[in-house]
Amino acid sequence: MFHHLPPAVIDPILSVAEAFQHDSRPNKLDLSIGVYRDTLGHTPIMRAVKTAAIALASEQRTKSYLGPAGNLQFNAAITRLMLGQAAPTDQWVTVQTPGASGGLRLLADLIAASRPHATVWISNPSYANHAPIMQAAGLTVRHYPYLDAEMRSLDRAAFFDHVRQLGLDDVLLVHGSCHNPSGVDLEPADWQMLAGLASRQGFVPFIDMAYQGFGDGLEADAGGLRIMDQACEQLLAVYSCSKHFGLYRERTGAALVKGRQPSLIRHKLFELARRQYTMPPDHGAEIVARILTDAALRQDWEVELAAMRQRILQTRHALVNALAKYDMNARHLLAHRGMFSMLPLSEPTLEALRAQAAIYLIKGGRINLAGLPVDQTDRLAQAIAAHSPG
Ligand code: PMP
Repeated sequence: MFHHLPPAVIDPILSVAEAFQHDSRPNKLDLSIGVYRDTLGHTPIMRAVKTAAIALASEQRTKSYLGPAGNLQFNAAITRLMLGQAAPTDQWVTVQTPGASGGLRLLADLIAASRPHATVWISNPSYANHAPIMQAAGLTVRHYPYLDAEMRSLDRAAFFDHVRQLGLDDVLLVHGSCHNPSGVDLEPADWQMLAGLASRQGFVPFIDMAYQGFGDGLEADAGGLRIMDQACEQLLAVYSCSKHFGLYRERTGAALVKGRQPSLIRHKLFELARRQYTMPPDHGAEIVARILTDAALRQDWEVELAAMRQRILQTRHALVNALAKYDMNARHLLAHRGMFSMLPLSEPTLEALRAQAAIYLIKGGRINLAGLPVDQTDRLAQAIAAHSPG
């Protein structure tokens, strides 16, 4: 049966992670995979998560099935966290999904069921799994221009020229904040412009929020989505709790749809979920629901999240200063938000960093700043200077 199985497409990030694991050099440094690390290089379980998990273990009375929408308290709390306390939510449907990845696939199936010939537009570059997940649902994927040639900031003119051509058969996938892989975000005025174009031209914005609170704060990072919500009748969104709750392996996320027929949409989502995974895993969602609905836990989570955000910003400053010592101007990194930015490093430079300095970055030069211990910034800057062509 498996003789004719085509070779698997290797995930570029996981293959770097594997090479890193097999590297026995003690000074090896992994700046590839997108997980947050503290100053000691650990990916901690957040305090509020631990407290909620302990309470859950002693208080939960059953592990019986929940429905296809998953944990309803989680769905309500996440919807509020995204849209704000006062926003009307009657046109929105929220279902819990196995991570944002599960949400992306669920909404890809929804788009395919509603408009099989739709084109999903993805930023160039974008999160590596966006295109394969959309394509797996049978959708056409194309890229829109996003960054300037130096990968430093938004190419506003090219981006909006492109968006002005979109219409009813188009879905525009945008990152809510902390763009992966570039760290380059839309500004409030860009969101306003986008919202106006979407409501006039009828394309459907699809917002991926995987890092709420890692950029400028929980409220600020939801600002773009909220601007779109005020202007657009139709919206798609996915949400991840992997990073800002540190729940990576618990696969905790959500898919949200705003539309005129919420009941039809809800039942269609249930049908689509049933044929994929039936129901999402509850553990992470129950922990998030407890944190967001308990004042003390929530405060503790917000304080720890703010410290994580500060650490990433400090690392940005430290790296910019370290690079400056070697005559490299990287001040634009300070305007980027979230864990990632892209360093314009060629393939031979990336190879040399790996082979000679045990520093691992992924193809394209994305750096996970949250993976960089502050005491390693100078070593990184020195290695980049040493291995970059003149
Ligand atoms: N969207 C983006 C932009 C991401 O960076 C990621 C990875 N963190 C995901 C979605 C998938 O996240 P999850 O772990 O919730 O599936």
